[in-house]
Amino acid sequence: FATPSSTMVHHDHRRFLLVIYPAQSHINPALQLAKRLISMGVHVTLLITLHMYRRMPNKPSIPGLSLLTYSDGYDAGFSVFTGGDEDYRLYASELKRRGSEFIDDLITFRAKEGEPFTCLIYSLLVPWAHEVARDLQLPTALLWIQAATVMSIVHRYFHGYETLISDKIKSKDEALTIPGLNLSLSACDVPTFLLVSPTNPVSFIFPVFEEQFQVLDKETNPIVLVNTFEALEPEALRAVDGINMIPIGPLIPSAFLDGTDPADTSFGGDILNATDDDYVEWLDSKAESSVVYVSFGSYHELTKKQTLEIARALLGCNRPFLWVIREKMIKVEGKKEEEELSCMEEILKRKGKIVKWCSQVKVLSHASVGCFVTHCGWNSTMESLVSGVPVVAFPQWSDQNTNAKLMEDAWKIGVRVNPKAINEEGIVEAEELRRCLDIVMGSGEKAKEVRKNAQKWKMLSREEGHRSSDKNLRAFVNG
Ligand code: UDP
Repeated sequence: FATPSSTMVHHDHRRFLLVIYPAQSHINPALQLAKRLISMGVHVTLLITLHMYRRMPNKPSIPGLSLLTYSDGYDAGFSVFTGGDEDYRLYASELKRRGSEFIDDLITFRAKEGEPFTCLIYSLLVPWAHEVARDLQLPTALLWIQAATVMSIVHRYFHGYETLISDKIKSKDEALTIPGLNLSLSACDVPTFLLVSPTNPVSFIFPVFEEQFQVLDKETNPIVLVNTFEALEPEALRAVDGINMIPIGPLIPSAFLDGTDPADTSFGGDILNATDDDYVEWLDSKAESSVVYVSFGSYHELTKKQTLEIARALLGCNRPFLWVIREKMIKVEGKKEEEELSCMEEILKRKGKIVKWCSQVKVLSHASVGCFVTHCGWNSTMESLVSGVPVVAFPQWSDQNTNAKLMEDAWKIGVRVNPKAINEEGIVEAEELRRCLDIVMGSGEKAKEVRKNAQKWKMLSREEGHRSSDKNLRAFVNG
């Protein structure tokens, strides 16, 4: 168990093991959590897969952090898009088998060496880590990297609301209210991984959620550390009896939160991918609040048709734009489609800027960015709140629908692409996107309202949010 990177000797007796699912949206908040724990005197060992470690262009060298790797059997990586449900099931069971074995040995070894771990924190989608720790009598906490609202909805689903929520998704008519939540949910607001159907591209993940909630059910008052803050989701944080949800977010690099550590922009969202390097100069050359930033996160793939509609909307709205089009992000079939796309990219480059990857927190905190067209992943949601950038919410799947609902209706920081505008092929046409962009970037009452609210949440997330969450985390560490 030699550690590839451990730079500080710690005399503190608190040693936390952090086990995370191998994905960008897990490692970003996990690294921020690690940094905060370390600043509180805790020694943190972060366990990641070998593939994830190899993918990192810059290995994190955070003083006090030990990084450990293990093989999940897929050292060349696993894509949820190329494999079907069965492939994912195989992948998940290998990850569980190899991961469980590794942490069992690791925890036992450290205890024998007289340097026992004192707590295990595991991120969503690796519930097996909790089971190993429980058998070895090591206390655990779940790091919930989605909204507290999503936790409440999913918890209800597994506790008596399964039929009601499933019927709601299918019927698409009346709104649903969940006890404890001050939200009226339509079919299009419910996390799509709760819809178990062969045509649902995200239902592969359902069994892992099921297992996660079974694991929580076996515990008395389990601790769930949530990447949110008190003022953002006060009801949702209390909506589930018997689960101790502790808000510890926003888990964003401190440089972007309070400016106390301006040199520390490390791992602000670019840990697994090398970023293009000239987009900051490009942003510098643009007027204040004039740029539309477009990103669909680290996972999602777009069809060629949807990409062309987005391109039409961006070209038509006559504003500078920065669009993240990751490598292999667009599904193309055949040489002809590939050529059409590269032709489209050429046209786009004349009006805006296309990057393969950027540091999103850096972009969102740039003064020239006026609007964020987002797929509403939870990290992107938190990052837009912290930066005070109004959004055009364009959710694609998973919990993104619920996040979009919160952005538009609860916090009122943007406009959502109308779910009714999604056509039979699942495409939103350029005109609808243009409509949303014109509202958010325009000068009407709605634009003023969303900008004002975005500023309000920026202030709340940095001041009240950051402070109260820090207090919560300190109490958890010392508890
Ligand atoms: N991200 C980034 N650069 C990009 C695109 C995304 O740094 O060009 C980061 C973004 O800041 C966020 C993460 O990738 O922290 C995406 O997580 P999110 O939960 O928003 O979506 P997911 O990738 O899980 O769909």
